[in-house]
Formats: sequence, C-alpha cells, structure tokens
Amino acid sequence: MKRIGQNTLRTKVINKSLVLQTLLDWGQISRQQIAEITSLTPATITNIAGKLIEEGLVKETGTIEGRDSRAGRKSVALDLREDTIKVIGVHIRLDYIEIGLVNLKGQLEQRHNVVMPPNISETEFQKLLTEKLTNFIDENKGISISAIGIGALGLVNFEEGEILSAINLGWSHMNLSSHIQKKFHVPVYIDNNVRAMTLAEKMFGQSKRLNNFMSIYIGQGIGAGLVINGQIYRGGITGAGEFGHMTYIPDGQPCWCGNRGCLERYASEAAITKTLNNISIPDMLEAANRGDLDTLSVLETAGESIAVVLTSFINMFHIQKVTFGGKLANEKYPLVKKIREIVNERSFLARQEEVKVEVTEMGENIGLLGAASLALLYGVFQSQQN
Ligand SMILES: [Zn+2]
Repeated sequence: MKRIGQNTLRTKVINKSLVLQTLLDWGQISRQQIAEITSLTPATITNIAGKLIEEGLVKETGTIEGRDSRAGRKSVALDLREDTIKVIGVHIRLDYIEIGLVNLKGQLEQRHNVVMPPNISETEFQKLLTEKLTNFIDENKGISISAIGIGALGLVNFEEGEILSAINLGWSHMNLSSHIQKKFHVPVYIDNNVRAMTLAEKMFGQSKRLNNFMSIYIGQGIGAGLVINGQIYRGGITGAGEFGHMTYIPDGQPCWCGNRGCLERYASEAAITKTLNNISIPDMLEAANRGDLDTLSVLETAGESIAVVLTSFINMFHIQKVTFGGKLANEKYPLVKKIREIVNERSFLARQEEVKVEVTEMGENIGLLGAASLALLYGVFQSQQN
C-alpha cells in the first residue's frame, strides 16, 4: 500500500512539473490546449491548474481563441506568474561570482557581480558567498525566495551537493549546498555550470521543445551538457560533459588532466589567446571585431578542431541541435560558422538529417540563468510541497 502512495505522489509531482513546463514552452494557453499537448485528461489539468493558482504559480489571463473551428469559441488562458515566486541563481566562475534574481518565466530581474578574490580557500569562499547572498536578499526585502541554484565550474556531485574539485580555484570536496541551505533555510541545488546552462536551454532557451540536444561552453576550458530523452544526462558521481578532454590529437600536447592532445589544449579561450602571443581576451575580441586576419584565422582553426571532435560525437549520438555559449560564440566570428559547416559535411548521420548548430540566445546571462534553472526545476516545478 505504501508503495502505491509513493507512486501517486511521484505522479502528482511529474504532472505538476509537466503543466508548468508546458506553460513555459507555449506561453498563454488554455486548459484544453495543455491537455492536448501533455496527453493528460482535461479533469487532471483542471485539478492541477486549480492548485497552481492557489499556490500563486499560475494565473488566469483573459481569453484566447480556442482551436475549435466553430468560430467564436473562446477559452480562459493560463499563464505563469512573474510577480510571486522567485529564485536566486549563483554562477561561480573563475573571475566572478554572479548572483541573480529570476522569476518563474526564467527572466533575470536583477544581477550583481562579485570579483572572485585570488587564492580564496573553500572556507573563505563559503563565508564570502553567505555574506553576499545576505546582502542580496536584504536588498530584495519582501520578495519570497523559493530556492537557490548554484552553477559551479569543475566537477560537481549533484546528488550530494558537493564541489568535488575545481582545479583552477584549488578547491576540493566542498559541500556548498548544505552550508548555504543551513544559512538561508531554502532548498539549494548545485551542479556543474555548463550542465546547468544546458538545463536552462531545455527550460527556457531555444532548445526548450527538443528532447535530444547538447550545449557547449567555450571558456578557459570547453565544457558540455547533454539532454537525452528530455532529461539532463549526469553520468557518474562526477557528472559528465568534459568535452574539452576528448582527444583531438592522440600524441599531442600534455593536458593537466593526465592525458595528451585534449581538445581544450587547441580550441579553448586559453589555447586561442596563447596561439596569438598571449594576447588578452578583450584585445583578442577587439582584433576579431576589426577583422584582423590572423585572429580570424586562429578562430577558424579552433572551430575546425571542435568540429572534428563534435563530428565523432554526433555519429554516436545523433542529437537534434548543439548550442554554443561563451564570448567567442557569436555569429560575427567565424568559429561557430565553421563548426556548422564541417559537422554537417563530415558526419554521415548529419548528412541524412541536419544537426542545427547555433549560438545561444541567452548571451552573457547563460551562467546565471543556468544556475536559476536548477532552483526552478527542482525547488519549484518538482517540489513535493502541497
Ligand atoms: Zn585533458
């Protein structure tokens, strides 16, 4: 009997989450349309919608034309509320800690950047983040915060809420989520930052209606996140998605990971700036913007390297789309364009059915929106309360 009870609760949570995600995907729609899209019964939708309205997550908002061809039939539209429940996203980067306030529609309402102090220890970092979050919440007095999501660079154990290692910051085994949860008394979720960005693409980005896609972030390293059958893929305890450590040249340059010839030794921001005589990133972008041929050629070569590895990957997992993030993921540079051309030319599966290669529409906000999407999905959409 107990087992049936648990299943019923699980089903309720799944159905609630499905209705909320459908409202995110389609905007203002009627109960009838939600029933058609989700294949849930109209009675179930009426029941869930009633509860969501009561909880302040959903509102009725005027009428819309029904799909019924008998002209004049209108139905009441439902929409997510932007004004009630909010979450906080925290993006831990090498150079900054980004903190942002995000509403139920995935809109970033406020953001604050804190410079990451050099050589900061795990304990000092926890103290600093607690202090900055306290200030941020004080500045937003009166706003109900339902959950906090944290996207962090490095290897993260999502289940345990622990940063296993962040080599560039010298951190290991930091159980950040339980520390923050104790201070702020709301659920806290932490995952690798690129996996979190992939979740944001699934929840409110350009891949929101896709079930199989990938998101790649080109920064100092190259990380990736994968959605398979509509679910984020997390692999083992360290997660998955170390795209930058896939082999590009078997006997190539040694990498800090212990292997040789890893892709990020050739195509990350760090590798590109090194090839251009250790130019700074702003100077490299400026050179690319004014059409400097050497810079553009290095970016094109980096695109070719990424495309070679991505082609192998696509022959294994014929995903529908790959979105790119990071400063170099911009259509005005030749990098993503080159990747698009090569992947669809070299992958025999992509030649049968094109793989879309795009630049993320979230731009510089993708890290924060990724972190917030963890809070929204697990702390609000899939919350077992009520
Ligand atoms: Zn490596």
